[in-house]
Amino acid sequence: MISFDNLFKLKAAELGLDKPEGREVTLVSHAHTDHMPTRFKNNALCCSKLTKKVIALRRKVSEIIDYKSSAIRQLPAGHILGSSMFLINKKLLYTGDFNTQGVYCGVAKPIKCETLIMECTYGSPEYIFPKKQEVAAEIAEYVQKHEESVIMMLDSFGKPQEICHILERHKVPFTMHSRIANFNKQLDLNFKYYEPKSSVFISGMHDAAFLPPSYKRVLLTGWIAQNSRFKQGIDKGFVFSSHSDYPSLIDFVRKCNPDRVYTHHGPAHKFAVDLRKLGYNAESLDVLMGKQTSSGWQRTLGGF
Ligand SMILES: [Zn+2]
Ligand SMILES: [Zn+2]
Repeated sequence: MISFDNLFKLKAAELGLDKPEGREVTLVSHAHTDHMPTRFKNNALCCSKLTKKVIALRRKVSEIIDYKSSAIRQLPAGHILGSSMFLINKKLLYTGDFNTQGVYCGVAKPIKCETLIMECTYGSPEYIFPKKQEVAAEIAEYVQKHEESVIMMLDSFGKPQEICHILERHKVPFTMHSRIANFNKQLDLNFKYYEPKSSVFISGMHDAAFLPPSYKRVLLTGWIAQNSRFKQGIDKGFVFSSHSDYPSLIDFVRKCNPDRVYTHHGPAHKFAVDLRKLGYNAESLDVLMGKQTSSGWQRTLGGF
């Protein structure tokens, strides 16, 4: 069996992959907790070296079995450090979270394929993001203007490292929560502008609660573009995402030019409807998963 993140499974033979010697194989796109496997015994992982390292840290596992196949090409996903997309047999492209505006961790580039399985977290037309580099400059400017500020993100791995990188590029000294510092240490990420006593603090959203109220609360997320819930209790919000916005998702599909598309994450059904209106043979991945039979998963992924 081959599973993709925690989403769905296919028989290895259907994908034309080498038999994984009685093991399951999981293709892991990146090390955000909603995409990481929970089982490691008899489960070999196909992922980038960095993703493997972070999974070992986050899940506290000492040994992870690797799976390699010449039929699987790992491509940068531009989402967070170590994130990948997978091209299988030059025909099927699977993406976990991806960003076509990735700045410091590669860029997700569309590639011609027959079947595209893609995330669509921001697959709704109201999500149009400003240019990432411009927002990065605005963030650096904001924290320099205020005496104390805490830059908050929803996860303590991924975007925090990106912000370290951005602040360094803008020559802004910063410090961070120990959870983030620990990731950086374990991954050998060293920043010249890291100053433990700095008044610019990088933190996961929940970890920021212990800081005194004098700190300006700055939240970075794509959700803030439309969802006012994310504006509560903060001083400043920036539309800064590790995902592609709606026009970029559509553009990605257009350039991959697939015969069929399966969507997952976010408004997968709605986004598939939008793609159908544009002439694509598109379906939410749920629909495919609903077709599971007693003899296994149906061969509906483009005749593999
Ligand atoms: Zn993610
Ligand atoms: Zn995700």
